[in-house]
Amino acid sequence: MRCHECGGTYRTRKGTLRLPDDVVKLLVVPDVEYLECDECGAQLYPWDTAKKIGDTRDRKISERLGSGWIRVKASIENRVDRKKMARTNLLVGTASQRTWLPEALLEKIGVGREKKDIRFKMANGKIVTRSIGFAIVHVDKYLTIDEVVFAEKGDLVLLGARTLEGLNVTVNPTRKKLVAAGPIPAA
Ligand SMILES: [Zn+2]
Repeated sequence: MRCHECGGTYRTRKGTLRLPDDVVKLLVVPDVEYLECDECGAQLYPWDTAKKIGDTRDRKISERLGSGWIRVKASIENRVDRKKMARTNLLVGTASQRTWLPEALLEKIGVGREKKDIRFKMANGKIVTRSIGFAIVHVDKYLTIDEVVFAEKGDLVLLGARTLEGLNVTVNPTRKKLVAAGPIPAA
């Protein structure tokens, strides 16, 4: 097979992959098969190797966050033009106040930056500034409208506590899913 980058030839290799990653910095995946161009070093991953890379990355992120985090599929909708929608996988946990979504995804569905230079304190104590927009968030049969943070390269994408409250759900870590939170207290 010819390399798309340089026209060199892909060779099958077996060993440890060391991949730079925005979030976990370096992803080390031992004992996998992959294709590597003998000219430029470009790599291609067969399906089971790609899956192992994804699983290793998920595990690394879970280790960093601690227990009580689950992963859900969400749909994000433009609040004005509701035909503009995108699907994404999100980590869910109550340690994050707000929902963080990739800025490319929000831009793709036309979500505007309503508030700029909002300050956030990260888990490591670092202060960063990000923009906030308004979007509709769907998870399973639940939906809400909320403020969402434009996550930049290297940020985790998360469904935060405020959105969970709007969805009226809680995280059940044993069942690894979101469950209905029950009647909403009112005065
Ligand atoms: Zn090549």
